[in-house]
Amino acid sequence: MAKKETIRVRFAPSPTGMLHLGNVRTALMNYLFAKKQNGDFVLRIEDTDPNRIFDKDGAQIIKDLLWFGLDYNEGPNKDGAYAPYIQSQRAKIYQEKLNELIEKNLVYRCFCTQEELDAKRKRQIALKLPPRYDRQCAQLSAAEIKEKLDAKKPFIWRMKLDPNKKIIINDLAHGTITFNLKHFSDFPLTRQNGTFTFMFANFVDDMIMNMSHVLRGEDHLSNTAGQAALYQAFNVPLPVFWHLPIICNTTGKKLSKRDFGFALDDLRTAGYLPEALVNYLAIIGG
Ligand code: GLU
Repeated sequence: MAKKETIRVRFAPSPTGMLHLGNVRTALMNYLFAKKQNGDFVLRIEDTDPNRIFDKDGAQIIKDLLWFGLDYNEGPNKDGAYAPYIQSQRAKIYQEKLNELIEKNLVYRCFCTQEELDAKRKRQIALKLPPRYDRQCAQLSAAEIKEKLDAKKPFIWRMKLDPNKKIIINDLAHGTITFNLKHFSDFPLTRQNGTFTFMFANFVDDMIMNMSHVLRGEDHLSNTAGQAALYQAFNVPLPVFWHLPIICNTTGKKLSKRDFGFALDDLRTAGYLPEALVNYLAIIGG
């Protein structure tokens, strides 16, 4: 597939309030990657999950990034061809893209309740099967769907993955990775309240904002399978991925903002200079 010419990368944090050494390192890698190649470094605030909004419009994130010297070319408070850069303001775009998938019959409504999904999951675990959505709602007839819609049963849209398909991605850290879609669930694109999931909004924006590369934490590697299937559904070339190793705390878990001493705020208060932190983060491995 054709390679994108301009280097465009993005840092896409949820506005949970605080940057810490883990996610700021992702921002730094994106920034350096862009600057080295005369590319664009985009900031996008991913606020589709209402439980993760503690920093409205990402004001604290922006302040922290600027303290670090990581100014962005496009993002909130700046002009840019792909504005707005705050996901809660982009619902119309996600809906348009969802409509395209509905027209192509690549998605289906799932009416399962959370209790039903939990019960399925428990049963699969008890049977020592990998927990995955069993596609029950993919089998519904048109009449059954109409009946549920008439009864105003809440539903979500799920992506219809082809279990016979394998998807190959190119990752700068891991090399060629093959995902066998039969191991993945038909993941949700929307929530019952009509809002869009991280998986979908993040993909739509990367596609529309023309990202050439996606540099993000390794914890997103398994999401990449479903998102790669979305790129294929839209017949758009995949970006090149670089899943970065995760910085862990002393117990070996992913660094979180609750780990005292790693939040930028703590470090700033303790007197660390941004230049020293940037230097440290840039040399701890790629
Ligand atoms: N909002 C996601 C996060 O904070 C971004 C993941 C990505 O960079 O694709 O983890």
